[in-house]
Amino acid sequence: MPDIFSPAERSELMSKIHGKETKPEITVRKYLFSKGFRYRKNDKRYPGRPDIVLPKYRTAVFVNGCFWHGHEGCRAAGLPGTRREFWKKKIEANKQRDERKRRQLIDSGWKVITVWQCELKNKQERNERLKKLKDEITDSLSETPVPSSPKFKYRLISPPFKQSMGGLSH
Ligand SMILES: [Zn+2]
Repeated sequence: MPDIFSPAERSELMSKIHGKETKPEITVRKYLFSKGFRYRKNDKRYPGRPDIVLPKYRTAVFVNGCFWHGHEGCRAAGLPGTRREFWKKKIEANKQRDERKRRQLIDSGWKVITVWQCELKNKQERNERLKKLKDEITDSLSETPVPSSPKFKYRLISPPFKQSMGGLSH
């Protein structure tokens, strides 16, 4: 691959291509696991295959790379110097798809949280973001989800989470 990407952008692209976990995903998952949360990874049955699904909290967490998902106003989301039009279209399409999937989840009564790669960069910011994430997740227990449409459009499968937690146990 020509050297038009920063190392972070390249790593993000390669993980998209090979379907591997990105470093930010691993960071968030490790943190949540250490706090006792149990989750599912990239469950295809949910719109957008969220990186982390917490059935107990009806919460989906997306850990987004700033470049690939076009983080607004973010320095890490800058387009490469060549083939700008190509990347612009591509990223724009990604953003629209993200928004559509987010809407579908919310319309099904789910809480959707996005963690951006740039929020995890330095240690202090990372710690703050992760702590906030924990609060955002647990807050959802006391909230009654208010779907945007009167009828839930998507019926999400209630997963049999005991067996399907990828071997994790309490
Ligand atoms: Zn960002």
